[in-house]
Amino acid sequence: MLLSRRALLALATAATLIGAPSFAQDKGTVGIAMPTKSSARWIADGDAMVAQFTAAGYGTDLQYAEDDIPNQLAQIENMITKGVKVLVIAAIDGTTLSNALDNAAASGIKVIAYDRLIRDSGSVDYYATFDNFKVGVLQANSLVEGLKANFPDTKPWNIELFGGSPDDNNAFFFYDGAMSVLQPMIDAGDIVVGSGQMGMDKVGTLRWAADVAQSRMDNLLSANYSDKVLNGVLSPYDGLSIGILSSVKGVGYGTGDLKMPIVTGQDAEIPSVKSMIAGEQYSTVFKDTRVLAGVTVKMVDALLSGSEPEINDTKTYDNGVKVVPSYLLEPVAVNVSNYEEILVGSGYYTADQIK
Ligand code: BGC
Repeated sequence: MLLSRRALLALATAATLIGAPSFAQDKGTVGIAMPTKSSARWIADGDAMVAQFTAAGYGTDLQYAEDDIPNQLAQIENMITKGVKVLVIAAIDGTTLSNALDNAAASGIKVIAYDRLIRDSGSVDYYATFDNFKVGVLQANSLVEGLKANFPDTKPWNIELFGGSPDDNNAFFFYDGAMSVLQPMIDAGDIVVGSGQMGMDKVGTLRWAADVAQSRMDNLLSANYSDKVLNGVLSPYDGLSIGILSSVKGVGYGTGDLKMPIVTGQDAEIPSVKSMIAGEQYSTVFKDTRVLAGVTVKMVDALLSGSEPEINDTKTYDNGVKVVPSYLLEPVAVNVSNYEEILVGSGYYTADQIK
């Protein structure tokens, strides 16, 4: 696969940012509230932000809330009390922070929604993220590509759909993006959702929990696949994909005549990259956390120096109170054919890490 110009630029920017010299200034402290350490991507986001904020002369207060909403709220309130200059927040539940953010605004603290939109609040200044609809499009395109390649003689293809956490605005964008590709194929009879379960209210996975996805997959298999073969699963996140894969392997997929279904993912987490190399997970979507951190640092720097942060989207992210000005980065589809170029070539992982 060829990388788009924008993706190449993003990778180049990441390399530049990482090599940036550090300045020993004190421009104040940035509060960084991350959702959980249970997924490696958020650890990478936190590390990249601390490195890049430090290099730009800021102090950082980085907190993880282990997917506990009151815990995240308390961490943010504490940051406000301590007088951080800016809050950078990847919310657990995008709707629960309104009061705290109003207090932040009253104290002159700027708020940046990081990766996930903060909903129902007028006190969100900017949003730094990836093109979340496109993530879903890439996932569905790769699902279809895998179905064609691995099940050329099967039609219709039987698939199942998984969505992300219904309290995360991104989950709807991923699902809608994916369905923009899959729905026409379902309507045309090329794809069948074996269980009939469709729509985020039926396929969402609260808190993106792998065990929840795994047991839902167990149930779907026993209720719907005793007399037919599952060909693919739309999975929006690598953690869920690993759970889904254990479920399908548990009933014999990947052995004898029963081929592995095509399973998608997101985040290029190491267990999933290894799974792709082993011929299990089919694909993932890479979102370079170093570049997202870089965009965020630039936004903060602009805000605090009284200039306008760079944005490239002023339409897409209505949080229920306002359309939050956003900077959207390009996600990149990754499978076994390009993981070396994208993940190792950009220095995101060393070859040893994914062996
Ligand atoms: C992020 C994804 C991640 C998911 C689960 C989403 O908000 O955009 O990258 O896979 O949360 O952590």
